[in-house]
Amino acid sequence: MSKKNMQFCSFCGKPKNDVMILIAGMDAHICENCVGQAQQILQEELQHHSKTNGVQLNNHLKPKDIKAFLDDYIIGQHDAKKIISVAVYNHYKRLNHQKQDDEIEIEKSNIVLVGRTGTGKTLIAKTIAKLLNVPFAIVDATVFTEAGYVGEDVESILTRLLQVCNYDVPAAEKGIVYIDEIDKIARKSDNPSLTRDVSGEGVQQSLLKMLEGTEVLVPPQGGRKHPDQKLVKVDTKNILFICGGAFDGIERQIGNRVQRQAIGFKSGKEVEVDKDNLLKYINHADLKTFGLIPELLGRLPILSYLEPLDKEALRNILTQPKNALIKQYARLFELEGVELKVEDDALDYIVDQAMENKLGARGLRSIMEIIINDAMFEIPSQKGIDQFVLKRAYAEEKINKSDSGKLKVA
Ligand code: ADP
Repeated sequence: MSKKNMQFCSFCGKPKNDVMILIAGMDAHICENCVGQAQQILQEELQHHSKTNGVQLNNHLKPKDIKAFLDDYIIGQHDAKKIISVAVYNHYKRLNHQKQDDEIEIEKSNIVLVGRTGTGKTLIAKTIAKLLNVPFAIVDATVFTEAGYVGEDVESILTRLLQVCNYDVPAAEKGIVYIDEIDKIARKSDNPSLTRDVSGEGVQQSLLKMLEGTEVLVPPQGGRKHPDQKLVKVDTKNILFICGGAFDGIERQIGNRVQRQAIGFKSGKEVEVDKDNLLKYINHADLKTFGLIPELLGRLPILSYLEPLDKEALRNILTQPKNALIKQYARLFELEGVELKVEDDALDYIVDQAMENKLGARGLRSIMEIIINDAMFEIPSQKGIDQFVLKRAYAEEKINKSDSGKLKVA
């Protein structure tokens, strides 16, 4: 056979005899090995593209769109969702439109959220990251100490971010970090010169540059930096930091302040203070009194609060969000071919239990697990069941039988 008539892969040049499959195109052929390689390249490219361009792709989202997306997942918390929608919109507008020689430099919109545990602070941050398709990491402020002391360096915050995006530095540089328990690094004493405060004020100090935006040398495995470690350079100027904390007792401080100063006037009458929800009056001065240093607060210009969740909110959380707990359990049952029905008064009972253990919506999951575990254990081995109705009496029985002390951890 002449060379002209011999078939071979147009990519690697192997002749037909040396490969298993040779696919013919118009004027060319490709073998199975080259198809495999091409697919791998395609996958890697697409992954990289979606990571680095996620923000760009979502550029058209307006604050109202961001809020609408949050509404699908987060019940209530309208003030926080609105403030955050605007902050996130501005953050990414700044990121996509900042010109090198622009005289007006738009500052970062890092956010601080104040609210009890289990009210949705982390969920809001996580949902924003999901919407924007950017890397997201959660870190706990309490593990950090000032450089040079036992504990973790604050740089390891960025290690987490790098880890979630497989060390893709450009992707990490557009990511979102949620720093939990920021209230736990409040200054311990009013007089900072009296004692060294390595895990409070010291950590606040070491966070400043990172929050503002700087190039940080990050230990890729986290922990403490050591001299012969290879470090990864990460620029934090476009990373959005969202800090959250319960700030226990801050209502008292807010109460004292609003007593002293009139809240405002509406149609000539003094507006009454809503004593049941003092958090909504929170301002940066209250956080300063609590023990956050002014330099840190200056780098967290957006402040919002989350309301405590009442019974109605908890009930809605169980059933309404896109991935509501009851919907998740229903899906698990559905996969067994069983329809799950939860009766209204069983829902009320679950909500009452959650109110009692004071863990916010966080408690709902553990309560549901206790109630439904036996059914999830038995049903897969049972034949002929196509429906499981969860009644209040059944739920009560399971809770009463359980080591209910576990629920009262609050
Ligand atoms: P925290 O305020 O302590 O950060 P999270 O956001 O981690 O609380 O909430 C814990 C869990 O409770 C979430 O994963 C979510 O399932 C549920 N949850 C809390 N608040 C809300 C809310 N407002 N809407 C919907 N689910 C919520």
